[in-house]
Amino acid sequence: MFRLFPALLLGLAAIIAHADEVVVYSARNEQLIKPLFDAYTQATGVAVKFVTDKEGALLERLKAEGANTPADMLITVDAGNLWQAAQEGLLKPVSSKTLAANVPVHLRDPLNRWFGLSLRSRTLFYNTRKVKPADLSSYEDLGNPKWQGRLCLRTSKKVYNQSLVAMLIAQHGEAQTEKIVRSWVANLATDPFSDDTKMLEAIAAGQCDVGLANTYYYGRLMEKFPQLPLALFWANQAKGQGGVHVNVSGAGITLHAKHPEAAVKLLEWLSSEKAQNLFADANLEFPVNRKVRPAAAVAAWGKFRQSTLNLAKAGELQVAAVKLMDRAGYK
Ligand code: FE
Repeated sequence: MFRLFPALLLGLAAIIAHADEVVVYSARNEQLIKPLFDAYTQATGVAVKFVTDKEGALLERLKAEGANTPADMLITVDAGNLWQAAQEGLLKPVSSKTLAANVPVHLRDPLNRWFGLSLRSRTLFYNTRKVKPADLSSYEDLGNPKWQGRLCLRTSKKVYNQSLVAMLIAQHGEAQTEKIVRSWVANLATDPFSDDTKMLEAIAAGQCDVGLANTYYYGRLMEKFPQLPLALFWANQAKGQGGVHVNVSGAGITLHAKHPEAAVKLLEWLSSEKAQNLFADANLEFPVNRKVRPAAAVAAWGKFRQSTLNLAKAGELQVAAVKLMDRAGYK
């Protein structure tokens, strides 16, 4: 009779565990997240439901739903966006030793409301027929008169550039950063591009010689067209230059999560050695967890020194960055 009791408890525990699910709102597309969630469900029995949409739409939805939201977790790209979600009170702090161990301190919110899960760098790219790597050095140097009429940039409306300029403000202050951005604008070969891929294609086509893009766009383009005369250069590697700008895709637990414990477990798992390659490799990104190696195609870009300024600065200084780029005439 008493022997049945532990069995009954176990059965009950299984039923409770089975009732667990996590609901995710994701600005990353289904193709990137579904394989992860399938692996998680297979390993734990916990179902993961998800909705994918554009960043802005998901934030609006979370705000409109308020306490009634079914969402437990928000996944999105760029620390600027994660910071914004936290700032608007949509995310709650998570205290987790696992996350603290797996996610480097500069890639997570100092108040623990969001955590980077994959890392990308926004660095320099150049046309290999027209530029030697020795000609390149830093973001700041793209304003050197030697690049006049040779620089391509993506629009300043994109959060990636807003975060980059915000981090430059964190490093140099506003006055110095404005000088840098003005010097870039003076060197533009053509109007800013609507996306990173078009800008990289313009460099490959010889419309300009150098530019700035996120690493995974380069990876995707070179997978399709390996013969392109296009190469990556790690910016700001010399001593005192601060390291290359990095950013993250990441996640946080919603303030009104209905399954907060299950959601934290999923978040911890996403940062684990088991999940990090699945999360990063699918989009040619770097794992944030230092115990995990990047995919071979990504590792082939070589080692680099990254800026260790906390990415919360990308959010805190975003408004200043937008105004600064406007003043500098960066469209
Ligand atoms: Fe992107």
